[in-house]
Amino acid sequence: MTEATAKPANFIEKIIDEDLSSGKHQSITTRFPPEPNGYLHVGHAKAICVNFGLAQQFGGQCNLRFDDTNPEKEEDEYVQAIQDDVKWLGFEWGGDIKYTSDYFDQLHQWAIDLIKAGKAYVCDLSAEQAKEYRGNFEKPGTNSPFRDRSVEENLELFEKMRLGEFDEGACGLRVKIDMAAPNMSLRDPYIYRIKKATHHQTGDKWCIYPSYDFAHGQSDSIEGITHSVCTLEFADHRPLYDWFIENLDTPAEPHQYEFGRLNINYTVTSKRKLRALVEGKVVNGWDDPRMPTISGMRRRGYTPASIRNFCDSLAVAKTDGTVDVAQMEYFIRDDLNQNAPRAMAVLNPLKVVLSNMQDDHEETLTVPYLFDSEGEARTELGERDVPFSNELYIDHADFKEEYSKKFKKKFCVGKRIRLRHGYVIEADGFEKDADGNITQVNATLIENTLGCDPADDIKPKGVVHWISAKHAVEAEVRSYARLFNDANPDGGDKDFMDCLTPDSLVVTKALIEPALANAAAETVFQFEREGYYVADRFDHSADKPVFNLTIGLREDRSLAN
Ligand code: ATP
Ligand code: MG
Repeated sequence: MTEATAKPANFIEKIIDEDLSSGKHQSITTRFPPEPNGYLHVGHAKAICVNFGLAQQFGGQCNLRFDDTNPEKEEDEYVQAIQDDVKWLGFEWGGDIKYTSDYFDQLHQWAIDLIKAGKAYVCDLSAEQAKEYRGNFEKPGTNSPFRDRSVEENLELFEKMRLGEFDEGACGLRVKIDMAAPNMSLRDPYIYRIKKATHHQTGDKWCIYPSYDFAHGQSDSIEGITHSVCTLEFADHRPLYDWFIENLDTPAEPHQYEFGRLNINYTVTSKRKLRALVEGKVVNGWDDPRMPTISGMRRRGYTPASIRNFCDSLAVAKTDGTVDVAQMEYFIRDDLNQNAPRAMAVLNPLKVVLSNMQDDHEETLTVPYLFDSEGEARTELGERDVPFSNELYIDHADFKEEYSKKFKKKFCVGKRIRLRHGYVIEADGFEKDADGNITQVNATLIENTLGCDPADDIKPKGVVHWISAKHAVEAEVRSYARLFNDANPDGGDKDFMDCLTPDSLVVTKALIEPALANAAAETVFQFEREGYYVADRFDHSADKPVFNLTIGLREDRSLAN
C-alpha cells in the first residue's frame, strides 16, 4: 500500500462536509487534548492523526491543548514529550500551545454565573455519602440536602472554597440537573473540587479545580473548536457537554463527536498501565523500544510515515475494536522495505580465509544503499565504501559441514557462494575446535566474478552477506520480542503484569561494516538477509555502535494467534 487509496468518507468527514457546504461553518477547527500525565501511546497517535488529519484535509486548524485540570498528576516532562511526539509525527498545531489552565479565570466566572442562575450549589456531602445519594443504573439518585441552598449562601461558600478556607473533600460545587436522570453523568455532577496542590502552570493561585467535564466543552468554545472529536467513552458525557454550552453564555457552540478507541492485541494502551511498567522497571523508561508509546516506537525504528499510514488504515467509526498487531507491523515493514538503506552485519560470525589471496590483500567496493525490485541501484540514498580483504566473516548459519538437499542454497565444501555485492568464492575445507564447532572455513576466490558469473559457468549456490574481518566493527545489537505474550493482556480479570514475555530484550554482539558504525542515530537499515535495525537514538555512536531490532524481514507466523 504505497499510495493512500481513496477511502469512503468516515462519518466525521461527512458531517464536516455538510457543515461546510451548508455554511454552518466557514472553516473548521479541531483539537488534540492530551492530559499531561504520561507519554503518548499508539492510541493517541490515532487521535492525533484523526484530529490533525481532519484539519489538514479540510484546510482548517488543529490546536494542541493540554488538558491540565488535575494538578496532582501533571508534569512538565510530559508536556515537553507530548509536543515532541506530535511534531515528530509530522503535525503542526495552530497558534500557540493551549492549556485548559489558561481558562481557569473564565471557568471560575462561569461557575459563578451558574450559581447566580440558581443552577449550581455547594454540597457538603462526603465522597462516600455523595456516592450513596447518586444511586446506580437501576436506582435513581436522591437530592442532596444542600441542593436548595440560597444563591447568596452558595456564592459565599464557593468564595470560601476558593480562598482555601475548607479542607479537601469538605465540599464541592455541583450543578443542579436531575438526580433521577438515567444518564448518570447528569446526576448533579461536581464541577469544582478543592485540591490543595501546586499546579504546573498556575502555581498556587488556585486551590479549587474544575472537573474535566466542566472544562472541556467550555475550553472548546473559547478556542472556537467546531468539531470536538474524542473517543467513545465520552459519549455518555455529551448531554452534559451540551448542557453547559446551553446554560452558559459561551462564545461559540462546539459539538462533540465520538469515535472508537484503538486497541491492539499483545499491547496495552493505557497511560496508567504504561506508567506501571516504567515505575516497576519492567522496561527502561517510557521510550523503551518495547513500549507502545510514540517515543518507544520511534526508538524502535518506526518511522512517522509508517505510524500515520497505520492510523489512516484504521476505521474511524462509532464502535471500539481490537486491531491485530500484525497490521501495525505491516506498515513499518512496508515503509522500510521501500525506503530503508541496505547494509551488511554479521550476527553470528564465522571466519572465512581466502587462501588464494595475499595475506594483506585489501580492496574497496563501492556499493549503493538501495536497489529497486529489479535489482537496479536507486541513487537517492547514495553509496558507501565496503572494504574487502582476504579474511572475511559470514554468518555461521550460512555454512554447512555437509551438502544436503535441504540446505541446497548453503555454502559447503566443494560448493560456491556469491558474496553479496562481491565475488564468488568456493569452500575448500574447514577447521573445528575441540568441541566440534566449526571455527574457520578455508576458501578460494574465483577470479573475475565481481558483478558477473564465473567463466566456467559453475553457478554459485546462493548469496551471503559478509564483512571484511580486518575492517569489521563490533556493535551491540538489542533484539526485542513483544512485551506481552498474551493476545489480550488487558482482558478479563487478568493482571497485565502476569502476561509479560520473559527476556523480551536480548543483547548480543554483531560485526558490522564501517559505514554502519558511522550512521546517524535513528537511521533504520535493512541488515541484509537479517532484518531491520535502527541506530539507537541515544546510545549509538561511531565508537560504540548500538542497533535496535525494529522488525524482522517477514511476518513471523509462529506469533500469530
Ligand atoms: P489513557 O487511558 O491512556 O490515559 P486518555 O484517554 O486518558 O488515555 P488523554 O490524554 O486524556 O488520555 O487523551 C487525549 C486524547 O486521546 C483524547 O481525546 C482521547 O480520546 C484520545 N485517546 C486516548 N487513548 C486513545 C486510544 N486508545 N485510541 C484513540 N484515541 C485515544
Ligand atoms: Mg484521560
